[in-house]
Amino acid sequence: MNPLAQAADSLGCLTPGPRLLKQLMRQPLGSTPLRIRSGGNSSRCASDGCWTLDLCRHREILHHEATKEVEFGTGLTMAELLQAMRASGRSLPIGLSGLTGSGFILSGGMGPLSRSQGLALDHITEIEGIWGSGEPFALRKDECTDDSSRWRALMGAAPFLAVVTRLRLRTQRLQALQVRHGLIPASQLPMLNQIAESWPETVSLQWNWGERLEVYAVDCNPAESPSRHLEALDPFLGTDPRAAIRRCQDQLEQPRFGSLASESVGSIPPHSEVIARLGPALNHQAGPLIEHLSTRIRERPHNGCRISAQQLGGATQRISPGETSFIHRDSIWKPWITAAWNPGDQAGREQSLAWMDQVSEDLRKVCPGVHLAQLHDHLPGHQQELEDAYGDWLPALRQLKAELDPEGRFPPL
Ligand SMILES: Cc1cc2nc3c(=O)[nH]c(=O)nc-3n(C[C@H](O)[C@H](O)[C@H](O)COP(=O)(O)OP(=O)(O)OC[C@H]3O[C@@H](n4cnc5c(N)ncnc54)[C@H](O)[C@@H]3O)c2cc1C
Repeated sequence: MNPLAQAADSLGCLTPGPRLLKQLMRQPLGSTPLRIRSGGNSSRCASDGCWTLDLCRHREILHHEATKEVEFGTGLTMAELLQAMRASGRSLPIGLSGLTGSGFILSGGMGPLSRSQGLALDHITEIEGIWGSGEPFALRKDECTDDSSRWRALMGAAPFLAVVTRLRLRTQRLQALQVRHGLIPASQLPMLNQIAESWPETVSLQWNWGERLEVYAVDCNPAESPSRHLEALDPFLGTDPRAAIRRCQDQLEQPRFGSLASESVGSIPPHSEVIARLGPALNHQAGPLIEHLSTRIRERPHNGCRISAQQLGGATQRISPGETSFIHRDSIWKPWITAAWNPGDQAGREQSLAWMDQVSEDLRKVCPGVHLAQLHDHLPGHQQELEDAYGDWLPALRQLKAELDPEGRFPPL
């Protein structure tokens, strides 16, 4: 569980199964908002003075052979889901870790395969749950002509409106990957960024910058041996065997992202918050931006503070911005900033959050969008983040919130 959420002075954790959850959602809560825990990776799956609803009893999984869809309870992690799908040779585009839960899917989470396969969110064909009003719902994508605004709202803004208990998604053929990660000097990042912007959509670049700068490239072309795009990284990564191309049978075998960028942290994991931005190709702007970020990295108040990025484009751009609440469909990069501090160090927390806000503001000029992978309803920048995440769609979302979650059982929008 996220260490900050784990340390929260929560009212307690409720673990109702499907039938009891329906009854529970009709009862007065005493304290709002209700926090939801699926994979438990975000800082807000538990908070001071709030109840947490843990979805751990929502774990059933059903394979629909005929339509190649998978239907599952939202208490499963992405690793559990992919493991269950392995036998049928099917998969979904998950992120850089299998630890995430349905918050990954519902927030519009992305990963190295998103450029060729789209967001996991774009695979949803049915969604079931309970609105904040206590009313249950079950919506199918192909039947949503009358409910199209509700469907759109659930695709990327569900945490503000409902608890989602069940999802049905179309699946992808299980795909082998080639991964190459290693360390580079920061001065080479602008050039590498530009090279990645010309890659086909089957290849993607990620990077993670802490004490050192780790680049992480993934090629999911059908088992060509070996990937010429990853071989083209030789001038950056040299012939160090630790930076050799690795073949992975599927996404669950990916090496751990970010493991090279910093020395392992101490025995007590730091507390952290993360903000993620979205923006278009950087082209020639990459040089000055990365030079500026170099300065910010040198000013990091804690060695757990990092700046990272993930590449989008391709399939993620082929969905119209008005179809889901993930509106930034022109995005090519998702840079994200991690603020870290030692548990209990209030001054360190303030410094790290100020550093995160500063870097986010620097990036905002070139990456104006926000990916709400974590909710920050306890931080001063929440309203601005909502505006940057949902843009012109925010007023309609707020109207839906007033209708579907009139008492504000879920986090404020
Ligand atoms: C190791 C690691 C790797 C990551 N890699 C990536 C990555 O590659 N790409 C990426 O985009 N993100 C990535 N993330 C971010 C992650 O996807 C988000 O933080 C996500 O919100 C985590 O979801 P969760 O279910 O695991 O966490 P939780 O904390 O359980 O859920 C997060 C929030 O989502 C909402 N939520 C969750 N489930 C439901 C539900 N069923 N109904 C309604 N609301 C719900 C709640 O508001 C909840 O507080 C990563 C995070 C970690 C820790």
